[in-house]
Amino acid sequence: RYVLGIETSCDDTAAAVVSESGEVLGESILSSVDLQAKFGGVVPNLARQAHEDAIDGVVAEALHAAQLEPPDLSGVAVTIGPGLSLCLKVGVLKAREVAHLGGCPLIPVHHMEAHALVARALAAASSYDDDPSSSAQPAPAFPFLALLVSGGHNLLVLVEGLGVYKILGTTLDDAVGEAYDKVARLLGLDLSRGGGPAVEELALSGDAEAHAFPVPLKNSRDKAKNCDFSFAGLKTSVRTAVERTIGIGGGGGGGLEVGEEAARAKVKADIAASFQRVAVEHLCLRTRTAVLWARETHPGLGEIVVAGGVASNRTLRRELEALALDLDLKLVCPPPRYCTDNGVMVAWTGMERLRAGVGVGECPETPRPEEGEWVELRPRWPLGDLDPRCSQQRQ
Ligand code: ATP
Ligand code: FE
Repeated sequence: RYVLGIETSCDDTAAAVVSESGEVLGESILSSVDLQAKFGGVVPNLARQAHEDAIDGVVAEALHAAQLEPPDLSGVAVTIGPGLSLCLKVGVLKAREVAHLGGCPLIPVHHMEAHALVARALAAASSYDDDPSSSAQPAPAFPFLALLVSGGHNLLVLVEGLGVYKILGTTLDDAVGEAYDKVARLLGLDLSRGGGPAVEELALSGDAEAHAFPVPLKNSRDKAKNCDFSFAGLKTSVRTAVERTIGIGGGGGGGLEVGEEAARAKVKADIAASFQRVAVEHLCLRTRTAVLWARETHPGLGEIVVAGGVASNRTLRRELEALALDLDLKLVCPPPRYCTDNGVMVAWTGMERLRAGVGVGECPETPRPEEGEWVELRPRWPLGDLDPRCSQQRQ
C-alpha cells in the first residue's frame, strides 16, 4: 500500500509518498521562507498564493518520483490543522482532487501529530538520509515521550498510542522557535534561512557564559509536575542585553563606538550563545520532569522523540543525548529535514491511520466541493484529549 501526504499549513508546500514499511518513494518540497523573510513574517494572502502556485507541481513531482499514479494510492493524507486556514485549504482541495482521481480515502492529519510520528517511519531510515548514523535508529514503540519544538508549538506529549496523546507541558507564551526568530531579529541577523539556524551558527563563536540570563520558571511551584515552558522573559533579557551593548537591530547606538565591528560581532555572538544555553537548559529541565512524571504511569517508558524545526539544533541534540543517557532512555531524532515541515510526516501518519483503520475519511465524490460548501479544516486544533478521534480509538 502507498499513501500520498500533503502539507501546506505554514510556509512550506510539501508532498511525499511512503510505503507501508516507511520507505520514502518520492518527495518534493517548496519553501516560501525567503518571501516571509522579506515581509518580516507570514502574510496569509501571500502564503496562500505561494501554495497555490506550487501545489500542482509539488504533488506531481512526488508522484512522478515514486512512479505512481493516483489509482495506485491507498489513501491521501493531508494536514487539516492547526495552521492558517487559507493555506490549509490549498492542501485539502488538492488532496480531495487526488483522492477522487485515485478512488481512495482522504485521511485528515494533525500537523503536530505528524511531527511526533515521523520518527516511527525511521525503521526504513537507510533510505531516508545520507547520514549513516540515522539508519541505526529504531522505530519508537508506544508509549513514548515527544518533545515538539517548532515555530508555533512547544509541547511535551506522552504518545500512548495512535490518536492517544496526553499533553504534559505547553508554552505559556512563545514557542522556542519563535524565540530564536525574535532573537535573530534583535541581533540583526540574516533571516533568509530562518532565525534559528542563524542564531545557532553565530553562537558557535560566542561565550555561552557571558550573560547570566535567568532560566525561565526555574523556581515555579509544583516542580514535580510542572512541564510548561515560557520564553517571553528570556527574550526580554536578550533585548535588554542588546540595548545595553549594541543597540536594537545590531546596527549601533548602544555602548560600542561605531567602527568597532569585530567587538560588535563578538558581543552578538556572546548574546546568541548565552540565549541558546539558557533556552536549551529550560527545554532539558522540563523534559526531565516530564520523563519522571510519565514513568509514574508508564514505568517502562524507554524512548523520547524530539521533532519540529528546533530539533535540528545541535546544542539541543547534544544536551538531550546527555539527559537520555542519564535517565536510561533512547533519544530518537529524525534527520534535520524531517524535523522541519515535510510531506513524509503527513504521508506516514496517514499510513499509520490506514493500517490501524483509525480516523480514515471517505473517498471524495467530487474533486472540488461546490461553491460555498464546507471543507474540513481545523485552523485551531489542540492535540490531546480534544482530538475527536481519540475517543474513536479508545472504543
Ligand atoms: P509549527 O510546526 O509549530 O506549525 P513551523 O512549522 O513553522 O511551526 P517548523 O518548520 O517545524 O515550524 O520549524 C521552524 C522553526 O524552527 C523556526 O522558528 C526556526 O527558527 C526554528 N529552527 C530551525 N532550525 C533551527 C536551529 N538549527 N536551531 C534553532 N531553531 C531552529
Ligand atoms: Fe511544523
